[in-house]
Amino acid sequence: MQFYLATSFIFPRSLRLRLFAVCFVATHLPLIGYCIWGAATGRIALIEFALLTLATVIGTVIALFGIGALLDPIHALAKALHAADEETPSLPQVGDVIQTLYAGVHRAATATRSQMEDLSIAALEDPLTGIANRRGFLEQVAALSPERSHGCLAIVDIDFFKQVNDRLGHDQGDRVLCAFADRLSAQIRRVDLVARWGGEEFAILFRESTEEEADWILSRIAAQMRETPIGEVDGRTITFSAGVSRWRGEDVEEALQLADQALYDAKRGGRDRVCRSGHTGAEA
Ligand code: GH3
Ligand code: MG
Ligand code: MG
Repeated sequence: MQFYLATSFIFPRSLRLRLFAVCFVATHLPLIGYCIWGAATGRIALIEFALLTLATVIGTVIALFGIGALLDPIHALAKALHAADEETPSLPQVGDVIQTLYAGVHRAATATRSQMEDLSIAALEDPLTGIANRRGFLEQVAALSPERSHGCLAIVDIDFFKQVNDRLGHDQGDRVLCAFADRLSAQIRRVDLVARWGGEEFAILFRESTEEEADWILSRIAAQMRETPIGEVDGRTITFSAGVSRWRGEDVEEALQLADQALYDAKRGGRDRVCRSGHTGAEA
């Protein structure tokens, strides 16, 4: 690259001409040397001079053909990259083969990096609702500093969701899931974490909160579900049940299991309610 830059003064816009100039000088060196030596000593023989000149010309022709053949595929690639540049006018137009190739490689690397970023975001996000998925949730929880790793975990499950699909269709079911994800996201604090846990189940981390606070927020959301429903099935407002457990920084999966058991209590207790781990269920 240094030699490439150092020779840019010869023909700055054309690599082909630059290569030609370098080869021309290199192939003529023996002839030039012979001429200088001959002039200095006065011993130039005509036949030797003619033979050397002929060999130099043949060498130059071979070098020119070689350079042309070697540059052809690079030129074709450069043209293709130029065509791509014209389709995206914001990219800088470059005239030199190496610069064009460099710009092409740089563009490809940038596109690959952004695709990889998109993929890694997609791996942590639920494609239907746009909120975090299970993996995204667990990664966000794991990223919390030890002094902030406490609060309350909740598993929230839409009641009789199968009926939504059965009566209103799967598409409407999807819309209800999205509306519920929006409702949860809008009602929790910005510092709290919400994720689609799977199917019609959602997980929430109420950061640095007590069970009473988590219960209060969930009960408030439940009341809002009745006041401003996200949907109805056969005249019945869509509701949810939730299980809450305390998390003091221990294994999050264990705390989630306790929340899941509390959710089971809420379902068994008649649904549309919030249950705390280790407590009896109370209607929301
Ligand atoms: P419960 O009150 O006991 O929770 O009853 P439920 O009907 O909500 O629970 P059940 O587990 O019987 O049914 C859950 C349904 O959720 C079954 C499944 O087809 C549906 N489901 C899961 N994922 C999706 C989804 O992405 N879109 C839609 N439309 N339905 C889904
Ligand atoms: Mg359900
Ligand atoms: Mg469920």
